Amino acid sequence: MTSATGSRPHFKHIFVSPRAREKYGERVETITTKFRSAEVHEIPANGSVSDDRTIVRTDAFIREAAGIPVDDVAGAVTAAKQILVLDVRSPHGLVRKFETKGGLVCPHFYIVGTMVNGCFYSCEYCYLQGTYRSVHPFIKLAINYDDVFDAMKATARKNKRADLVTNFNAGELMDSLSFEDVTGFIGELIPKMTGDDFERSELMLLTKSANVEALVSAAEEHPEAIERVIPTWSINSPRAASCYEHAAPGTEQRLEAAKRVQDAGYKTRLRIDPMVPYEGWEDDYRDLVRSIYGEYGLQPQVITLGTLRYESAVPAIARKRFRHTNLFDFPLVKKGEDKQRLRYAERLAMYRHVVDAIRAFDDDQKNRPVQGTGRSMGRSRLRHGT
Ligand code: SF4
Repeated sequence: MTSATGSRPHFKHIFVSPRAREKYGERVETITTKFRSAEVHEIPANGSVSDDRTIVRTDAFIREAAGIPVDDVAGAVTAAKQILVLDVRSPHGLVRKFETKGGLVCPHFYIVGTMVNGCFYSCEYCYLQGTYRSVHPFIKLAINYDDVFDAMKATARKNKRADLVTNFNAGELMDSLSFEDVTGFIGELIPKMTGDDFERSELMLLTKSANVEALVSAAEEHPEAIERVIPTWSINSPRAASCYEHAAPGTEQRLEAAKRVQDAGYKTRLRIDPMVPYEGWEDDYRDLVRSIYGEYGLQPQVITLGTLRYESAVPAIARKRFRHTNLFDFPLVKKGEDKQRLRYAERLAMYRHVVDAIRAFDDDQKNRPVQGTGRSMGRSRLRHGT
């Protein structure tokens, strides 16, 4: 289903945990009424999905009630996109420190969010397909937002006392805005970020969504929050987005959303990732850069670049889910850990081509160095992936 602001999920089943029903009944009703065609199930009292002791039993209950295929990983991953679980998550897991590995230029950050399992978009390259999605075949939403806010405040306050900057990242485990019209989570969070406790904090958002009403309204009502919120759009060439990023808004919708948010006063960022080397990629990615600066008049604070890569487990599952895909026909090499990537020369050619295009359209970039994730190459607004 596509809305004016992009795609929305279509849930066949919604499962409600006893704790969610008991403590947040009103919120459960608000969410379930947005999906009137979904069948709503109550998870048995002994089966909260947040409780390790009953997790297996609960997964089995959901699989059976939703008719999830057994021994069919690809089928389970696809079916999981239409199953929503509403639950309450333990406060300890709501704000987690993520330590970046040595050699990377990204700073440490704190993972925050409410979508703690799954995503209703269906990108063919998505690494989630190769993880435990077939074991826990559902999208899980933790609806105890207040606990997230409290945990963030405590973290920000502690770090401020130690004179540290706190980077919160609401895009590591979820698309930050794809569910915003359902949850209103980011819209509630931004006003809270204006308090003194968050004086040295930033909230990073990463999205393919066009749900920007909350950001635009927050900018009008709480202009002081603008400096503390950094929205980033994950974009791709229109051809790559339509071929490989199913159910997500198209490139134009994402760029329009980024422009609205930029016009509202935020410093926006872009991530062109993963660039796919299909025939004609050179023109398509150059045109994308041209429309970023020309047609949409965007002035991204940072542009991060990445090329096609995926976990080794992904192709076998994705080929079954997307039967006509050609995404896994490009020759990739295995390098480090378990990830496959384009050959070095090809990656370099793609990065150079797009960096040249950016420099051609953005005067500010002409003499700036590029910053790599493998080693620091100086202060800059352009970054490439691995
Ligand atoms: S938006 Fe991200 S998490 Fe969702 S399917 Fe695409 S790659 Fe996966």
